[in-house]
Amino acid sequence: MVIPRGGIIIKVIRRYPIYLYALERAVERVKMPELNEVREELYRQQAGYLGEIASDKYVRRTRIPGIVFTDIQIEAAPGEFIQIDTLILTQRAIWVIEAKKYKGALRYLHAPKRIERKERDGSVMVFTCPIVQLESQMHALKGWLDAQGIDLPVFGTVAFASTNRWEGLPEEAPIIPVREIPAYLERAYRELDDRLTPETFVQLAEKLGLQRNMIVWEPVCKRLGINANRLKRGFLCPECHSQLTRATERTGHCKNCDQNVKTDYGLLILDWFLLIHPTLNNAQLRAFAKLKTKQAASRILNRYELLIIGASTGTAYTLNLYTDLDGLEIRKGKPGRERVEEVITHLR
Ligand SMILES: [Zn+2]
Repeated sequence: MVIPRGGIIIKVIRRYPIYLYALERAVERVKMPELNEVREELYRQQAGYLGEIASDKYVRRTRIPGIVFTDIQIEAAPGEFIQIDTLILTQRAIWVIEAKKYKGALRYLHAPKRIERKERDGSVMVFTCPIVQLESQMHALKGWLDAQGIDLPVFGTVAFASTNRWEGLPEEAPIIPVREIPAYLERAYRELDDRLTPETFVQLAEKLGLQRNMIVWEPVCKRLGINANRLKRGFLCPECHSQLTRATERTGHCKNCDQNVKTDYGLLILDWFLLIHPTLNNAQLRAFAKLKTKQAASRILNRYELLIIGASTGTAYTLNLYTDLDGLEIRKGKPGRERVEEVITHLR
């Protein structure tokens, strides 16, 4: 790892959030009335992601020597992780940015702290308070730094990518428009002195780089308390999302659109992991894909790079959604039992 010199534009790499993709899939399979809740959660997650994308653009323009980490996970309490979407590490301090993009007029409320927005239909959309989110991220990060024996100041701000009319927003609220991110960071950076030696900086950067994929995936139904038995099973029409009547193992038919659709078992299996359960066995696949025989189900399971767990009648398949997908797809190949542990190369 090379320490960036002053003036180098910070590089930011961000992956599409798997939870956001899972919610997009859930919108197709969940029925009313639970669908309303999924749609709201999808909107909230999109607002976060769109905010991050907008904030990334301005973080890239910032001219301070540092390294940007996205989607870092810090253990706040045993087994409880907090995700930090944007963390900027420099030799002088760490900055945390919590970005959002909410449209419209917003109302800030206390007890509990939250943001509300009145919708056109009169309903109220509630968002958790991004300032509280930011504070808990900074708190977890300070605790983590203490545990590493590192004395480095932690600062943070909420950055809004949307222009909003606010009501009740406290005067001292740490909220800035995303376009002010470069000025905010550069001004604060200039006023500080170096706290870390180049060596400690590199060591800390390496440790932070390992703070990923610590959270265990929780399927959407479990997270939102939706009864998985009420989901649409089988293949769905990509146009109208209605259930297909199956003609063969390879194609299905949508009565609604009067068209034949190719069946994609990789997508179907991924839907299971995203929405229903972290493992899948032969019987579950038969029921979910509406397959008639064990042989057909096992033929299909053998086409993908899944991890086999258990033995004989207890055999099930799984995969790590954070690390084992190819983009947002399950890799075609063969399932296997053993995994080669990813080799982590340490500098010295
Ligand atoms: Zn259709």
